[in-house]
Amino acid sequence: MHLLEYQGKALFSEAGIPIPIGEVVNSVEDAQTVFEKFSSGVAIKAQVHAGGRGRAGGVKLAYTEADVSQSARAILDLKIKGHIVKELLIEEIIDIEKEYYLSYIVNSASGTVSLMFSTAGGINIEDIAKNNPDDLLKLDIDDISLLREYEIRNFLRKANIRGKVLADVASIAYKLSQCFKKKDLMLAEINPLVVTKNEDVIAADAKVEVDNNSLYRHIEFETIPELIADVYEQRAKDIGISYVQMAGDIGIIASGAGLAMNSMDILESRGEKAANFLETRGGITAKLISDSVKLLLSNPLVRGILVNLYGGVNPMLEAAKGVIDGLNNNANNIPVVVKLLGNQQEAAWSILEEAGVSTVKTVSTERAVDLLLQKMKGMRMV
Ligand code: GDP
Ligand code: MN
Repeated sequence: MHLLEYQGKALFSEAGIPIPIGEVVNSVEDAQTVFEKFSSGVAIKAQVHAGGRGRAGGVKLAYTEADVSQSARAILDLKIKGHIVKELLIEEIIDIEKEYYLSYIVNSASGTVSLMFSTAGGINIEDIAKNNPDDLLKLDIDDISLLREYEIRNFLRKANIRGKVLADVASIAYKLSQCFKKKDLMLAEINPLVVTKNEDVIAADAKVEVDNNSLYRHIEFETIPELIADVYEQRAKDIGISYVQMAGDIGIIASGAGLAMNSMDILESRGEKAANFLETRGGITAKLISDSVKLLLSNPLVRGILVNLYGGVNPMLEAAKGVIDGLNNNANNIPVVVKLLGNQQEAAWSILEEAGVSTVKTVSTERAVDLLLQKMKGMRMV
């Protein structure tokens, strides 16, 4: 999951990394209001999930009210690589003396993390590597939690920076390594890492990618429901199910649209809300159900799961195997209730019960919902 610049900067700031003061707005009028607070000028930046905004006209500096209106309007009317611009980050202008590049990235193949730094920042990493390969320093790290600030400082000396700037960059790189570890990031890139005329070092941009498989550990990303929706709807497409993200906290897996709607209605009647609509259609396999269970478990919004299956054409024994396999990933012991009827139901029930899964064997979805709510209440009291 990619974060927008301002969301990435919020993580940096929480880790103690200096960022420019700013606010997010979605209209020209609100951009004006923020501008009034920063009399010397503002940077207006499109908040979209696409790189190369600067080049596409998505970053503009404005020094007068008229400038702000015109630039904010122009950026809100932009489409950057197919992404409509809905939000703008309005920041105080920073006085740029130099632009550096700093990042951590996971090498999926080796499981190591690379720290990269260049004094030739402000352009993208591919161009730095092409134009100034000697200016790009790289350090491979086996275990980022063991990385020490003095090691980073020694590494950075090769870039010919010294004094206060060296100390500040090393401190920022160290804080970024801690944030990287704590938030389960795949990528944390600051480009440019700005040195101002006063020799202050500030993260002027943020490109952050969170490991989707660790989302369940990060309740803090709950505040980003629209991102979660994007990620989950994409992953559901890959699994081959029909899925819509919703605002509640009870995950639903149903074998048909009618059953899913009915489950949602019953939840509503109990004052609860579904976290999603999920329909498997007619192609149930153990893997499809297992992947669906894992999908819901990885969603930090989900506090309980109802599996509601009817096997006309669908093989219920395979479905039960899939549920059991998926629940191997239930690290947080999220309450789960399975209601399953249809072909091979006895065999399915018996393996579910053997695996310790709460199983409802009647046609009553009400009963399954009430059992789930009861289990969730038990969890909440603990
Ligand atoms: P990107 O093109 O999407 O990577 O957007 P960036 O946030 O990196 O901004 C692109 C460029 O705009 C930076 O490299 C800076 O040169 C410039 N820029 C961004 N913010 C400011 C600012 O506050 N002040 C000044 N003077 N320039 C800025
Ligand atoms: Mn940038």
